[in-house]
Amino acid sequence: MTQASHLPLTQLSEEERLFFTTVRKFAEETIAPQVQSMDSEQQFAAGLVKQLFDLGLMGIEVPEALGGAGGSFFDAVLAIEAISTVDPAVAVLVDVHNTLVVNALRRWATPAQQQQWLPRLASDTVGAYALSEAGSGSDAFALQTRAETVAGGYRLNGRKLWISNAREAGLFIVFATVDPGAGYRGITAFLVEKGTPGFTVGRKEDKLGIRASSTCELIFDGCEVGEENLLGELGKGYKIAIETLNEGRIGIGAQMLGLAEGAWGHAVRYAKERRQFGKPIADFQAVQFTLAEMATEIEAAKLMVYNAARLKDASLPYMREAAMTKLFASEVAERVASQCVEVFGGNGFVRDYPAEKYYRDAKVGKIYEGTSNMQLATIAKSVLSSR
Ligand SMILES: Cc1cc2nc3c(=O)[nH]c(=O)nc-3n(C[C@H](O)[C@H](O)[C@H](O)COP(=O)(O)OP(=O)(O)OC[C@H]3O[C@@H](n4cnc5c(N)ncnc54)[C@H](O)[C@@H]3O)c2cc1C
Repeated sequence: MTQASHLPLTQLSEEERLFFTTVRKFAEETIAPQVQSMDSEQQFAAGLVKQLFDLGLMGIEVPEALGGAGGSFFDAVLAIEAISTVDPAVAVLVDVHNTLVVNALRRWATPAQQQQWLPRLASDTVGAYALSEAGSGSDAFALQTRAETVAGGYRLNGRKLWISNAREAGLFIVFATVDPGAGYRGITAFLVEKGTPGFTVGRKEDKLGIRASSTCELIFDGCEVGEENLLGELGKGYKIAIETLNEGRIGIGAQMLGLAEGAWGHAVRYAKERRQFGKPIADFQAVQFTLAEMATEIEAAKLMVYNAARLKDASLPYMREAAMTKLFASEVAERVASQCVEVFGGNGFVRDYPAEKYYRDAKVGKIYEGTSNMQLATIAKSVLSSR
C-alpha cells in the first residue's frame, strides 16, 4: 500500500508559518493597543489602513507582476485568522478586500481592468462589495438598483445597504440589474470608482460589533459609468456574486476562528491570574473543563477552515465545505466568546476588559455573507442531492 504523502491539515509550511507569525505580531503590537478606542470611536486609527497595505496584506493573491504578494487563498485565510485574534473589525476590511473584491477582479476582470485596478488594490485603494439592499438580503437577486444603457455605458440608480469598507474604499463592485423583468439573469456587476458623479456614500450604521469597520448605505443617483466599467458579462453578475461569496464564506470562517482563538487566549490568561478561594480560578476543574471545551471546538473549526481553504487552492469542489465552515465557525465563535465572558465573571461584562467585545463581534458571523439559515439551505441541497 502506498503511503499518503499529505501533511496534517494544520501543519503550516515554513513560509505559511512565517507569514502567520508576522501578521500576528503586527496585530498584537500595532492593532491591539488601539482596539478599544477604535471600537468606541467607530473608526480605524489614522494610518492603520496604510500599514495594512505596506505589510502586503491588501494584495495577498494579486500576482507579483501587478504589485501583489502572489500568495495563495490559504495565505489570505491565515492573515484574516491572525488579525481576528486581536480585532475582527480590522480583519473584515482585509477579508472583503481580498476574498471578494480582489478575487472577483482576478477571475472576471479583463486584462485591461486588471492592469488598471490590481496594482492599486495592492498598494493604496480599498475595495468594497455592494450586493445587499434594504429589500434584498438573503434574497439577494431581488435587488432593485437599476443600470440603464446610455451612450457609451450605463446609468446607475438605486441604493445599497450594509456595505463594508464603504468609508475607506476607492473602488466598489456594484451589482445592478440591466433588465428587472429578467430576474437574476439581468444582474450585472460594475466597477464604480469613488468620486464618480452621482455616487455618494450615505449613512454609516451604528453597530453591535465590529464597530470600527464602516458599514454604510450607497446612493446612486444618475451615476454614469463607461462600458469599460462592466465586470464580466452583461447579465452574468449573479454568477460573480454566487462564486465570490462561496469563497468569501471561508474568509468569514477564518475571521470567526481567529476571534475564538483570541477570546480563548484571554480566558486562559485571566483564569491563571484571577484568584478566588485562595487559588487561581484555573485550578478549579469546572474552569479547566470550560477552557478544554473551548479549545476542542476551536480545533474542529480550524480543521474545517483550513480544509476548505486548501480544497479551494487545490481547485477541488469546496462549496459545501465553505458553507459548513462558516456555519460552524460562527457558532463556535459565539459559544467561545460567551464562555470567555463567563470566565472573566463581572469583568467579562464591562468594556475595561477584552471579553465583551469578542462576544459582540461574534454575532455578525451568523449574519453576513449569507445567514446561518442560508448556509443550512446550501448544505441541505448539497447533501440531499448527492444521496
Ligand atoms: C456588519 C455587516 C456588514 C455587511 N457587509 C456587507 C457588504 O459588504 N456587502 C453586502 O452586499 N452586504 C453586506 N451585508 C449584508 C448581509 O449580507 C445581509 O445582512 C445578510 O445577507 C442578511 O440579509 P438581511 O439582513 O436582509 O436579512 P434577511 O434576509 O431579511 O433575513 C432575516 C432572517 O430571516 C431568515 N431568512 C430569510 N430568508 C429565509 C429563507 N428562505 N429560509 C430560512 N430563513 C430565511 C434569515 O436567515 C434571517 O434569520 C452586511 C451586513 C452586516 C450586518
